[in-house]
Amino acid sequence: MAAPKSKKQQQPAKRGGIRLIMAGVLVAGFGLGGYVFKDRIFTQPPVQKTKKVAKPWYKEYATQVPQMIHLPDAPLILAAIDAEIDTTIKELKPRKPLKVPKVKLPKPRLDVATPKAKPTPPQTAYEEALPQDVYTPPVVIPPTLKAPEVINEVPAVVVTSQPRWMKYALNVATPPADKPMIALVIDDLGLDRKRTARTLKLAGPMTMAFIPYARDLAKQTGTARNNGHELLLHLPMEPLNPKVDAGPNHLNTHLAPEDLLDRIHWNLERFDGYVGVNNHMGSRASADTSVMTALMKELRTREMLFLDSRTNPKSIGAKIATLEGVPFAERNVFLDNVNEKGAVLKQLSLLEKVSKKRGFAVGIGHPRDGTIQALKEWLPLIASKGFTLVPISQIIMKNQGLS
Ligand SMILES: [Zn+2]
Repeated sequence: MAAPKSKKQQQPAKRGGIRLIMAGVLVAGFGLGGYVFKDRIFTQPPVQKTKKVAKPWYKEYATQVPQMIHLPDAPLILAAIDAEIDTTIKELKPRKPLKVPKVKLPKPRLDVATPKAKPTPPQTAYEEALPQDVYTPPVVIPPTLKAPEVINEVPAVVVTSQPRWMKYALNVATPPADKPMIALVIDDLGLDRKRTARTLKLAGPMTMAFIPYARDLAKQTGTARNNGHELLLHLPMEPLNPKVDAGPNHLNTHLAPEDLLDRIHWNLERFDGYVGVNNHMGSRASADTSVMTALMKELRTREMLFLDSRTNPKSIGAKIATLEGVPFAERNVFLDNVNEKGAVLKQLSLLEKVSKKRGFAVGIGHPRDGTIQALKEWLPLIASKGFTLVPISQIIMKNQGLS
C-alpha cells in the first residue's frame, strides 16, 4: 500500500493548477476586452465628411469604370504580341503620308443658322449641346486615297488584302448609282442598356457607335452585328464647356503627348470589329491640331476610318484626316436635338433633301424615345422614297472611288 502524499509533495501540483486557472482568466479577460472595445482598437479615427459632389452622368450607368491600362490588352494588329506591336508601329512610322493634291475647298454653306442665344449649360450632361446646322460641304473625291496604294506600302507583318475598315465593313450589295444614299449613325450606345437594346432591334443596315467605357461591350456589339448593323467606336473627346463631363479617359487638349497616346490606345482597344471612330462631344478637342493629329496617325496605323460628328463648326477633322491619309466622312444633320417624334421626322426630311442634292447624306441620332419612335415609322418607307439605306463604310467607299 502506498504511503499518503505529504503536504510538501502536494503543493507543487496545487500551485500548477492555480497558475493554469489564472492564465485562463487573463486570456478570457483580454478576449472579452478586445471584443467590447473592438471598435476603438480596429477602427480608423472618423474621417471628416467632405462636400457631396454630383455624380457624373455616365456613372448612373457605368458604376465600375474600367481602370486606365498602359499596355494594350486586346491588340488589334493581327498575330501581334505586346513586344511586336512596338516594332510593327516603328516599322509603319517611316512611311510617307500619301500625297494629296491641295484642293481649295469653297466655304461650306450652313443652310440653317446656329441660333445666337446660347442655352445655359447644364452642370452634368448626357451630351454637350449639339449644333443645329445642316452641314453641306462640296463633294470632293480625293484622287490619291485608293486602297491598293495603301496595301503596297504596308510591311510584311500586317499585309492584308484590304484595309481593316473594309474587312469589318458590313457586307451589303453595292447601292444602285441612281439612288441617293443615306447613312444613319446612332451613337452614345452601350450605357442605357434598355434603349440600346431597343435601338439595335431597328431595321438595318444602320451604323451603331458604342461608348468605350460601357460594360459588356463584346456582347452588346455582337448583338448589333448579328442584327445587321455596322459598328463604330464613339470616342469621348473634350467639349468646350468645362462643366460638361465627356467621361473617363476622354481625349483632352491638356494631356502630355504620351498620356494622350495612352488614352487613344485605351479607348481603341475596348472592343473589336468596328470600322472606325466618331467623336463623342469633342467641340474643343476636334478643333485642336495636336489631339487630332495624334488620333489620325493612330487611325492610319490601324487602318480605320473617321466620321466627324462636327460638334463644332471649327472642327479640323476632315483637314487632318486628309493630311494623314485617313478615309473620312462628315455628319450632315443631327436628328434628335429635340427628343420628340415629330421633331426627329422633320430632321429626317432635311437629311433626305441633303441626300437628293449630293447623292449621299449622314445623319446622327441617339438612343432616345423620340428617335426610336420616328425611325420605326421612317425606316420602312425609305426604299419607296427612292433612297438606299447604307452603313457608313459605303459612303466612304463611294467617296474614295472604291465601290
Ligand atoms: Zn455622343
